[in-house]
Amino acid sequence: MAQKIVAGNWKMNLDLEQSLQLIEGLNTKEFKNDVRVIVFPPSLFLQPISAVCDGSFELGVQNFSENEKGAFTGEISINQIESVGGTVGLIGHSERRAYNGESNELLKAKVNHCIENNFDFIFCCGEPLSVREAGNELSFVKKQLEASLFHLTADQIAGGVIAYEPVWAIGTGKTASVAQAEDMHMNIRSWLNEKYGAQVSNNVSILYGGSCNASNAKELLSCPNVDGGLIGGASLKVDDFNAIIHSY
Ligand code: PEP
Repeated sequence: MAQKIVAGNWKMNLDLEQSLQLIEGLNTKEFKNDVRVIVFPPSLFLQPISAVCDGSFELGVQNFSENEKGAFTGEISINQIESVGGTVGLIGHSERRAYNGESNELLKAKVNHCIENNFDFIFCCGEPLSVREAGNELSFVKKQLEASLFHLTADQIAGGVIAYEPVWAIGTGKTASVAQAEDMHMNIRSWLNEKYGAQVSNNVSILYGGSCNASNAKELLSCPNVDGGLIGGASLKVDDFNAIIHSY
């Protein structure tokens, strides 16, 4: 069975003091044992956050280099991240695809770099509004997965994590309906099944992201093929994030 996961993407929000306050609030919460909780703060604060984090949740990075080390100004490596307590990386978030020009090829290189370094990642996919309106969302998302993720072997992808995040739902207050979310998740599961078989497809966690909050999480996360959530705005408030984690 796929692991239940709730992950919080803080994006470029909060200063150090606010970040530490949020972590302190999360430290005092009792998370459910069967839910893996991951927080993605700004990388700059990973070390001070990691120093006070009580270990009931993991820390990840919103971005990292596909290179091991060297002359890559402004980049951070997996080794550096691990040295300050980070265990997971986000790959292919739509904001990085759109604002930083991250291509399918680059995302594939990041996936490969994670595999080589045994570093966990959440691979994000999702269609823009124009694609949804044209009714082409399934082929669009399938192509994203085929371009950057589905070259992995069954062993490599087993236990992996995919986040379906329709671009039109991210930060807009508009969520996918339960039917839209379940339909995409079911299709992603069936593509995994076709390529890798049932054992792998049943074990890959498929998260939903896009304006998921304390009020709508129960509905969205109860879909049979939704194994958790990637949460942006609502992960910046302790009580909201905690409510989402407890909505299972
Ligand atoms: C995200 O950035 O991954 C996200 C889902 O954001 P929000 O929850 O704010 O829509």
